[in-house]
Amino acid sequence: MESLPIFMRIKAARCVVIGGGDVATRKVAMLLKANAAVEVISPDLCDALQALALAGTILYTQASFEPSQLPGATIVIAATDDEEVNTAVSDAAKAQNIPVNVVDSPALCTFTMPSIVDRSPVVIAISSNGAAPVLARLMRAKLETMIPASYGRLAYLARDFRDAVKAKFADTQSRRIFWEKTFQGPIPELMFSGQESAAKLALANAIESDDSDAQHGEVYLVGGGPGDPDLLTFRALRLMQQCDVCVYDKLVSKEVMELVRRDAELINVGKARDQHTLPQEEINQLLVKLAKEGKRVLRLKGGDPFIFGRGGEEIETLMENGVPFQVVPGISAANGVSCYAGIPLTHRDYAQSCIFTTGHFKAKEGQPNVVELDWPALVRPNQTVVIYMGLVGLEQICAQLISHGLEAGMPAAVVQQGTTPKQRVVVADLSTLASKVVEAELKPPCLIIVGHVVKLREKLAWFEPSLN
Ligand code: SAH
Repeated sequence: MESLPIFMRIKAARCVVIGGGDVATRKVAMLLKANAAVEVISPDLCDALQALALAGTILYTQASFEPSQLPGATIVIAATDDEEVNTAVSDAAKAQNIPVNVVDSPALCTFTMPSIVDRSPVVIAISSNGAAPVLARLMRAKLETMIPASYGRLAYLARDFRDAVKAKFADTQSRRIFWEKTFQGPIPELMFSGQESAAKLALANAIESDDSDAQHGEVYLVGGGPGDPDLLTFRALRLMQQCDVCVYDKLVSKEVMELVRRDAELINVGKARDQHTLPQEEINQLLVKLAKEGKRVLRLKGGDPFIFGRGGEEIETLMENGVPFQVVPGISAANGVSCYAGIPLTHRDYAQSCIFTTGHFKAKEGQPNVVELDWPALVRPNQTVVIYMGLVGLEQICAQLISHGLEAGMPAAVVQQGTTPKQRVVVADLSTLASKVVEAELKPPCLIIVGHVVKLREKLAWFEPSLN
């Protein structure tokens, strides 16, 4: 190692920054985060530092650098754009045995400042020792996406229970085992998903009953978005990569499925129209069963689990059975598909509201299939209507919208497999849409968008799906 990584406590310590510009501002911000008593020495200050000085957050000494300013400093940072001054600061600090950092001049430094991932109290510092700062920064970005934002809260939770764990487990070995199991069980996920009191309770119970050995299953109900894997949330991706088993729908794209942990068992409960592979009630029970076997179960759904996703029914069953779970929203088809089709769902001039509805048939025995919707609500002026699951009933839907008052010339679009390389968009009006869609042989999943905003696609289309 070329340098020794250390973390320095500088709370209330005098830390001197030479320079008053943007670079100095960034260094000052970092020092303030660690609660230092910051003093800035410079003939002039940029606006941001001036504001801090005025507020009394930093001490400002208006002067050029002199070595006599350094005694008593815990660390010194030189952040001027004058090489001579920077060298003088470095020389003076070294002569006085004060740790010094000169921005962008590793040769003049006795310490450097790493890239950090801040999950206080947990902090990760990354340094390339000046060899490739950009690489260190990229590594940092990677870690940022992998480590939940509330990781620090987990550390504080553990701190709050340290004494209780010490009291319960006499030797360090059994304490270590307890913590290892705890951090690999469901408690962290409870914290990360904002269920802090449940996490506390679970930890208290685990200590009390010493049952960290017990099998703890949990369910992650995750929205996989409309298809493009780049539209997943950080949390979705993290949970996808830590599950033991993945229960997924037909709607989840192949590219998204590629990101599920390789070793996870995959269970397809996908629903093709009219051939439910597994009835909903059985899916609900399957989730409970898998979790009770101690597995981390990823329930992966297309789009958002709470929009035409029956996510509510699934978590209801989990709740009834005392299975811990969390729900991760996904980008719903309406959001993702309209965006990639260049059709804003609202627009100052054309639509002040937007309504999502299903166009699914309600099958009635002995009667022809009819789409029963609240038609008067769908034909209100200045509104965009987004219809999920409407491909089969498209002709009927268009006819009903017209007969309930929408003009036959109202712009309307059907988007097939939006956000994916297979996206196709058919734009027409209500009177011609159905026949155009038949002609184009669109395949599900398809989303219907009706409203004046559809016209905007002429100008705003931006996404070019690859044709192969
Ligand atoms: N929970 C999902 C919707 C499930 S219902 C979500 O929030 O998106 C299934 C319907 O969603 C499909 O029939 C289709 O209308 C729509 N849909 C989902 N993904 C789509 C996509 N990539 N392109 C077009 N429509 C899509």
